[in-house]
Amino acid sequence: MVVCANCGSPTIVKTSWTPANPGRKFFCCITRCRGCGFVDWAEGPSCERAIEVFRHFGALAYQVKDHEEEALRMTSEIRQLQEQALGMAVKYTRLKMILMFSWVFFISYVAFH
Ligand SMILES: [Zn+2]
Repeated sequence: MVVCANCGSPTIVKTSWTPANPGRKFFCCITRCRGCGFVDWAEGPSCERAIEVFRHFGALAYQVKDHEEEALRMTSEIRQLQEQALGMAVKYTRLKMILMFSWVFFISYVAFH
């Protein structure tokens, strides 16, 4: 186990996900919360392929985010269209009633005059 060079506390192994060091393991002092900022690489630099793959996944993550935003916009649009459809259904029912009453009135008028 690697101990902290600053305070002698144990370290834990973490994984970097920065663009420059994707997937690279490093030691981190467990007392970091109490102010010790010791970190040291546990392995050599990330290979070019790892950095390239990381960039690719970063770009994909942005695309996913764009699609999620588009899905939210579309969901909102669907909600608005559903409200419009409901309003139109109410108007249609009202017009049907008016038409029905006008026919009843017309037939009554023709029959009794
Ligand atoms: Zn420390």
